[in-house]
Amino acid sequence: MLQINNLKVAYGSIEVIHGISLEVRPGECVALIGANGAGKSSTLKAICGLVPVKSGNVTFEGRDITNLSGHGVVQAGITMCPEGRQVFPQMSTIKNLRMGAYMRRDAEQDSDLERMMDMFPILRDRAHQAAGTLSGGEQEMLAIARALMARPKLCIFDEPSLGLAPKIVAEVAATIARIKAMGKTILLVEQNSLMALRLADRAYLFEAGEIVLSGTGEELQSHPEVVKAYLGH
Ligand code: ATP
Repeated sequence: MLQINNLKVAYGSIEVIHGISLEVRPGECVALIGANGAGKSSTLKAICGLVPVKSGNVTFEGRDITNLSGHGVVQAGITMCPEGRQVFPQMSTIKNLRMGAYMRRDAEQDSDLERMMDMFPILRDRAHQAAGTLSGGEQEMLAIARALMARPKLCIFDEPSLGLAPKIVAEVAATIARIKAMGKTILLVEQNSLMALRLADRAYLFEAGEIVLSGTGEELQSHPEVVKAYLGH
């Protein structure tokens, strides 16, 4: 579904992604793991048209989407649930959800809004509250629901567990598992490697702008290098 071939990304003259290749197949949950600064976010940004690709290419459903604008990428069917939630703080929960559907021209936004509030009852309770007043966990649920409002074929989650209490992290993980069970294809970036590897069908380990290891979530969970450096036991 998504294919990245020999991708290089640079900020100015400094190359930070050095020719990586990976793929996400329909219905899979694929995780990108690795330390701070390893290049996971830069890879996501390159997919989403938020940083220019220096060389290599990105294809989605067989179509070359390299260096497409952010809008073009959403139109192609890819939505990112960004790091740090980035809800619109002054807008109500409902308005935030509607923003997720701003590229859609169909008449089913209202029924999708209802479905989202059925899926996340807390968002119904908070429907008319300014999003900035929601707790971190509630904002994460809102950011996830807002991403789903675009009806993406591929949903990208960037560090969804960041800054959340352990109990809420478990809720976020359960939510991602539910979204996968709905048949969505998921690309997940997480520093919480254990959470990511438990959710993932397959995963790639990033180090210093390169992919150094890949395998099933289970394989990586028991790989000695991963256990030692990222799972801490
Ligand atoms: P994190 O979990 O901290 O987001 P990451 O694995 O996603 O880490 P990136 O954010 O992609 O890593 O960073 C990869 C490298 O690119 C790092 O060396 C970082 O300092 C550098 N970098 C990231 N954004 C920029 C930028 N806007 N300008 C210059 N260098 C950047």
